Amino acid sequence: MERLTTLDELRKNIAILACIEETKAPFVSCYLNLEKGDLSYRKIFEDRALAMRNTLEVEACSDFDTAIDQIKHYLAEQLRPGAKGVALFSRHFRGGAFFLPMQFAAPLPDWIAVYPSPNLFHLMALKDTYHRYVVLLANKAWVRILEVNLGAVTIKAWTEQPELRERVGREWTKAHYESHRRERTSRFLKEQIRLLERLMAAGGHTHLILAGDPRLTGEIRRALPKSVAGNLVDTIPAASWDKQDDVVAATLSAFIECEEQESQAVAARFVQGIRTQGRAVAGATACLDALRQQRADMLLLARDHLPEPGWRCAACGVLRIEPHAPAACPECGKQSVQPVDATVELVRLAGQQDCPIEVVDHCDPLMALGGIGCLLRY
Ligand SMILES: [Zn+2]
Repeated sequence: MERLTTLDELRKNIAILACIEETKAPFVSCYLNLEKGDLSYRKIFEDRALAMRNTLEVEACSDFDTAIDQIKHYLAEQLRPGAKGVALFSRHFRGGAFFLPMQFAAPLPDWIAVYPSPNLFHLMALKDTYHRYVVLLANKAWVRILEVNLGAVTIKAWTEQPELRERVGREWTKAHYESHRRERTSRFLKEQIRLLERLMAAGGHTHLILAGDPRLTGEIRRALPKSVAGNLVDTIPAASWDKQDDVVAATLSAFIECEEQESQAVAARFVQGIRTQGRAVAGATACLDALRQQRADMLLLARDHLPEPGWRCAACGVLRIEPHAPAACPECGKQSVQPVDATVELVRLAGQQDCPIEVVDHCDPLMALGGIGCLLRY
């Protein structure tokens, strides 16, 4: 069984997939949601595979079948029990094969396509939405520091607070005992904050969520150094008997909500940028130019964007965003023109340049401008 994919691995794999050379062989991109069980995703996969096979030319079918078999084999043998989403990229042809599977603790939609190159949109959307963050979970008896990476949890530190031995007695009044206890707790929390600061710096973390006993998380929040306080996303109450999985699920919802707010802020910057000449562009053609000139700072895509018809010449690589493909390429004259979905090409170009993609949920101006836009570098 394979491991769950981390954010760093996802970044590397996006770069690999974005740079894959096209061949005549069909490339299968397969995203499956595993939450409803194997009967559900197997049926979806088999139905889609059969439908796609009927659209292929006869000579492509055997390569396609081999690519599909490799996916089936992986699904039958390699899935981890905790995985909620799987993404598989498979291509086969004489003289070469490519297979890249990834499993995630975060869910993915059911989405399967055959195309000359990999379709990266859902990988980029997953990276944008789930990303990674740190949780500091504090209770009276212990503090735990967790890393949530694409929805998967690892415990980075777990420290118990030493028990207080002193008892209220002859020489310890209750008030004295209480003030002593508070002081010890404060000292303990300060140590934990220093540990948190070190772990966040070492891991390059930029998002933090506090969870646990509200009195303690309040005290921690007030004591956070500026560098860490600026990264605080949210604070969530949790009892010491709450299951860690439930607490993490609550932090994940808070994180996704914060990510949505961030994406609304990006959308607002985009709208402002369109009003101000030279800060943003809209539409697939302008985005394509910006990406080609390496001027794109961020690509914005509406979550429910429509495919953008275009064509590309396999001989010279020219890509145009226009609905009707000419019989021969106007640049090189060869008859190697194929229709393409320009969005797929734009996402691939962004992936090659490590240009982030922001998936925007509700933004009417962006939809009115074709559902695709780009923030420009200054
Ligand atoms: Zn050409």
